[in-house]
Amino acid sequence: MIFGSYSVKVEELIKEVMRRNCKRILLQAPDGLKKHMLEISDLLEEKGIEVLLSTDPCFGACDVSCIYYAGALNVDMVVQIGHLPIPSLKVPVMYVNAEGIAREEEGVKKAIPELRGSKIGLVANAQHVNKLGKVSKILRREGFEVFIGKGDERIYRDGLVLGCNFSSATSISKHVDAFLFIGSGFFHPVGLSMVTSKRVVAVDPFTLKVFSEEIEREKNDFLRRRYAVISLAKDAECFGIIVGIKPGQLRKEKAFEIKKKLERYDKKAYIFVVDNLSQNILDAFGGIDCFVSTLCPRVAIDNVFKVPLINPSELEIVLGEREDYVFETLE
Ligand code: SF4
Repeated sequence: MIFGSYSVKVEELIKEVMRRNCKRILLQAPDGLKKHMLEISDLLEEKGIEVLLSTDPCFGACDVSCIYYAGALNVDMVVQIGHLPIPSLKVPVMYVNAEGIAREEEGVKKAIPELRGSKIGLVANAQHVNKLGKVSKILRREGFEVFIGKGDERIYRDGLVLGCNFSSATSISKHVDAFLFIGSGFFHPVGLSMVTSKRVVAVDPFTLKVFSEEIEREKNDFLRRRYAVISLAKDAECFGIIVGIKPGQLRKEKAFEIKKKLERYDKKAYIFVVDNLSQNILDAFGGIDCFVSTLCPRVAIDNVFKVPLINPSELEIVLGEREDYVFETLE
């Protein structure tokens, strides 16, 4: 079924729910697709299935905190619309991806003049990764050698990159001259550029806009912003370490490890537990000079908080353990 610019295999979802003989399901979707949940709910209810709609945010496949309360609601199955699964995350959730209805092949043709070298690493986000096969044929016809890398256990399909994991790119980085990213926004291309140190060209298959120099500029802006936050954090004496309960972001061991480390540096440290972090939550704990987030790496990077909020790899710079900036990723 088509929802705006996305295609969701609702028929397959209904078939699977019927096959498993589910009587009641809990449906979850990212904000952009939430309004379409009503239509999906109607279709399921026509088949006699009770549907509960989760109002929680849903930032990625990692974000399935609703499994904690699904049992209390006597739900037979949790279904997340809009993301591909994370193989290493063993949760009782059925994932139904939303594939972009876009012009990937046209976009790649537009991007070709920006590519340098003959060996190209091809990557995409979850909405366009299903098109990598078709797109690679276009590049091969133009004389490029194309590499599509296998990711680690967090990565569902070859060539897929997440905001927290670029292993499908790093696995082929030494073989390629440049990367071509298919998807929207700068976060993935900037992360890709940071972790591979290769030229990155990005094409947005919805708008057909191609970016290359802009990615370098974004990367420099990103580093400037992060070093400003790191610099503020250097004066901190009292730290708050944030551990998230979202199953695919749960890094409690990391949080304890950071607490011990800070104490070795004679710093005071507390561990805070959170599902969805906001400024209001942080405001309630005055007296903390710096927060260290073990959540999705994007939480620290994409937001501006009143008190410095840094990722664990940035804390290493704060404590003088490293000088070079390392882009935080999850395995
Ligand atoms: S941790 Fe962040 S970047 Fe990774 S899948 Fe979850 S929301 Fe996406």
